[in-house]
Amino acid sequence: MPLLRTFDLPTPTLLTPECDAPGCGVAGDQYTMIRCRGCGAWFCPDHIAAAEGVTLVRAPDPAPRGLAYYQGCCVSCQRARQRTHH
Ligand SMILES: [Zn+2]
Ligand SMILES: [Zn+2]
Repeated sequence: MPLLRTFDLPTPTLLTPECDAPGCGVAGDQYTMIRCRGCGAWFCPDHIAAAEGVTLVRAPDPAPRGLAYYQGCCVSCQRARQRTHH
């Protein structure tokens, strides 16, 4: 039954991004790290602009089950946006 070989799949891909803020070495997985919707980099909660809000994003359907991550806006993107508002 080649269609039902669910037990010998390779190790599931787990995203373990590292915080992209300068000088910050925090690493986590896609549930603890937040992806910036502005620059696409990953950041720890300390370097995400919480005021911008954080949303849980689920990958589109053909993706492996359970692939989801948090998306927000990093501090430098938030600052850049505020600058353009002035
Ligand atoms: Zn950013
Ligand atoms: Zn960080």
